[in-house]
Amino acid sequence: MKIVIIGGVAGGLSAASQIKREDHAAHVVVLEKSGDVSYAACGMPYNLFYKDKPVEDLYALSLDDIRKGRGIDYRLHHEAVAINPALKEVTVVNHELSREYREGYDFLVYATGNKASRLSLPGFDDDTVFSFKTLEDTRLVKNIIYEKAPANALLIGSGYTNLELVDVLYNMKVTPVILEKSATILPSFAEEIRAKVLEKLEQKGIALHTNVEIIEKNGAVVRTASGDFEAGMVVVSIGVKPNTTLFSASGGELGVAGAVKVDRYLRTNLPDVFAAGDCAEHYIRQLGRNGYMPLGPVANKQGRLVGSNIVNSNAMKEFYGIDQTAVFKFFDLTVATTGLSERQLREAGTNYVKTYVDTPTRGAFPGGGTMRVLLLCEKGTGLLLGGQMIGQDVVAKRLDVLATGIYKHMTVFELAELDLSYSPLYSPVWDPILIAANKAIKDV
Ligand SMILES: Cc1cc2nc3c(=O)[nH]c(=O)nc-3n(C[C@H](O)[C@H](O)[C@H](O)COP(=O)(O)OP(=O)(O)OC[C@H]3O[C@@H](n4cnc5c(N)ncnc54)[C@H](O)[C@@H]3O)c2cc1C
Repeated sequence: MKIVIIGGVAGGLSAASQIKREDHAAHVVVLEKSGDVSYAACGMPYNLFYKDKPVEDLYALSLDDIRKGRGIDYRLHHEAVAINPALKEVTVVNHELSREYREGYDFLVYATGNKASRLSLPGFDDDTVFSFKTLEDTRLVKNIIYEKAPANALLIGSGYTNLELVDVLYNMKVTPVILEKSATILPSFAEEIRAKVLEKLEQKGIALHTNVEIIEKNGAVVRTASGDFEAGMVVVSIGVKPNTTLFSASGGELGVAGAVKVDRYLRTNLPDVFAAGDCAEHYIRQLGRNGYMPLGPVANKQGRLVGSNIVNSNAMKEFYGIDQTAVFKFFDLTVATTGLSERQLREAGTNYVKTYVDTPTRGAFPGGGTMRVLLLCEKGTGLLLGGQMIGQDVVAKRLDVLATGIYKHMTVFELAELDLSYSPLYSPVWDPILIAANKAIKDV
């Protein structure tokens, strides 16, 4: 059996590794157009801190481990440029040798990720404007920070990636200024959570300009309808688009957010072609339908399942789906979410109650901090629909308790009865989750 995989990062390498685990004899070819093997993009912002720590430290495995250790035919600088589903072959360009060739397959895995949206405005194609999407972007950003030492940076867009960069750049003494097109930041978060992020920006004296319409970039100056901004570097992070050009040009069907449409087995409409990761749709359990939430764990899980379904094509398993759990760091705060957002609940017409509490994170013990826990529950039944948290100390793992509750369709009444651990070093005697649940019960 021969499997060709387009894209060699989280989705692609997970699929390749799983195939080899389950069928050692399979010939697995991974085509990766860049010069980098699979890496942890999530660590890229934090690599900037370390001048002498090469970005290659973020590689998940070495090329040797992938080729010799896992037996995968992993080809760097090889770009798939066409798919012929009728002949079951891919046209490939080997950029190192400037040679084009065709590679046949029994199964094809499409794992091309997504690409950063660009600002197609005058002046935004110069070498002081960056995306922060790939390892190569990280090399370029790192280079300008250490070689040119810019005093300030303009960050266009205020999603997770740019907020993580704000934190990192501020700590590296590169003053960040944020320009945001919308009226506010983090639209999938409740206003009570967002308020805490805004409060932190203010505390740090970081300028956030909302409702900004950008006109052009002229030298170091970005002109907007609300004034001019000058900066030594600009990072544009205004969203991502699934990387689907090649797939749709071959007759592949697209779905939510323009991502590759997949069924529950992660098959596409093209025969024997599967898709995984940031290029594909993701099944959202609570909605009972596909959505688009491009994150690391889902890319790994989908990739692994695709690999398993290819080897076990007579006993395929459905992708179990996601609950939209995500987390990021913002200075001393951890900001996290799971389940449905208020926006999704409103769209679905769900009758829900929102409760939040502010609590200390530990008992009578030095250290720790405070956190805000916000719960979204169904009115009447108390079914746990969503949860968001922001604060210091242990936030992410508490959020994961809510994610577990949502997975098991728990009500807030059951949440309040959980036997969570206590020692003043880790928690108050009533854990913040229990305090929030007990308050929510009164509202439900
Ligand atoms: C700065 C940053 C921080 C992040 N932080 C987090 C985090 O904290 N938590 C989290 O869950 N997620 C995070 N993510 C998201 C996470 O990294 C992605 O969801 C994950 O990498 C997706 O993996 P993928 O394999 O689907 O796509 P990608 O990682 O995009 O890999 C796709 C690969 O396909 C290759 N390719 C594309 N087209 C072709 C072609 N035609 N031929 C050959 N190769 C091709 C590309 O070169 C690329 O290497 C972050 C992402 C970024 C950029």
